[in-house]
Amino acid sequence: MDLFRWVPGKGPVQVAPKLGVASLLPSDGPLREAPCLLVLPPLWDHHGHVAWLGALLEQADLRGCSSVDEALNRLVREAAGPSPGAWVEGFGWDQNLWGGVYPGRASLDRLFPSRPVYLRRVDGHAAWVNSAALAAAGIGEDAPDPPGGAFLRDGGRLSGILLDTAMERVAAHVPDPSFEDLRRRVLNALNHLLGAGLAGVTDMGLEPAHVDVLASLDREGALPLPVEGFAWVRPGQRDLPAPATGSRFHLRGIKLFADGALGSRGAALREPYSDATGTEGFLLWETEEMARVLKEARAAGLVPAVHAIGDRAVGQVLDAAAMWGTAGVRIEHAQLVSDGDVRRMAALGLAAGIQPCHYLSDRSWAGKRLGGRMSRAYRWGSLLRAGVPLRMGTDFPIEPPDPARNFLAAAGREDPSERLSVEDVLRAYAPPHQMDPAFACTLLGCEAPEALGRTSESQRLVFAPPPTGDRPC
Ligand SMILES: [Zn+2]
Repeated sequence: MDLFRWVPGKGPVQVAPKLGVASLLPSDGPLREAPCLLVLPPLWDHHGHVAWLGALLEQADLRGCSSVDEALNRLVREAAGPSPGAWVEGFGWDQNLWGGVYPGRASLDRLFPSRPVYLRRVDGHAAWVNSAALAAAGIGEDAPDPPGGAFLRDGGRLSGILLDTAMERVAAHVPDPSFEDLRRRVLNALNHLLGAGLAGVTDMGLEPAHVDVLASLDREGALPLPVEGFAWVRPGQRDLPAPATGSRFHLRGIKLFADGALGSRGAALREPYSDATGTEGFLLWETEEMARVLKEARAAGLVPAVHAIGDRAVGQVLDAAAMWGTAGVRIEHAQLVSDGDVRRMAALGLAAGIQPCHYLSDRSWAGKRLGGRMSRAYRWGSLLRAGVPLRMGTDFPIEPPDPARNFLAAAGREDPSERLSVEDVLRAYAPPHQMDPAFACTLLGCEAPEALGRTSESQRLVFAPPPTGDRPC
């Protein structure tokens, strides 16, 4: 194992492997197995979802299963989770890997005759359920398809495959986690994030129950990582949460959703989607109401962050911010931004929360949705040059929390005008405040992550200097 430490003025210096790892790794973790490690200044993931990651860590992970039998075997192995007897949940199956034929409920019924089973497809737009789950949701053979969804049938009977809004009919019956469940999930997730080499995280969408769990873990001194949080605010909601400062947990802002996502054509575009000409996505807020919430948040000392992916949604957030001259708003994702709005973001003093790893996942199909507009998409370099501060995140668990994928996506971007230097990425990963010395460095496995398969990328990372002025560990 090769371990490097960054020495100012000298660059990377190899340190004694065993001594280095033993003294630098906070706990046993996957990084211990990495063949090569890079020591970086602390990396803070500025956009993720801690409790959601914790929930997925307890579910059967069916990604990559190459047959129904493999999926069923994995499900049985992983269903003995923390609360046997409860619903069996899983995610990530893909029938395209086993001949394109949807699975059916009979195979699940044989293994789980009484425990309800709810398994989301890899894209989140279909679910595979058993008869106990259908019964728990009160869905009978004669159930009509809900608007925007379908109960697939096989020989006239419910097959156990639910599409889109039909999924919600069953998902609504999965019991909410208890305080203890949430506490366990949050701790599991934070330990997982520590193992990914992070020095701290921002949770971009806290429910009140998540805030209670994080604040209580903080009071006990039990948080393995510092966390800052943004609480959800939905249209029509009158009361905003109060900012809170603890030892390692801070409630720092609020999170709004301006539009949907590009993959499901929910992102609000100014012109129709290139592959669905009658569709332009949707906006979730009235501009005046959004402006009122942004203003009240700033007055209460909260940082507003708004999810806006399409150019129409980004424009709406800028219109709302401009109504009251609200600087300091964060636009999360900002995946399609017009030239004029890049300039407006800078002039109004807004920041952009970006997740270059989404580009790695989206680039194979995003061009179909956007056509020629791809030249105005994922424009990290344009935003930075215009003077918009960048905050780097992965949106875990939608993407893995591995920082290496963001380095690869941003520093390896094909279009040089949107590429970021490694120094820019490090700066965008900088913690929001002074770090406690326990988190003063980050270890990045530079060969182990699958995304770093290409030697040239690994080499570039190994020899990346830290940002000027920052003190590496
Ligand atoms: Zn997110």
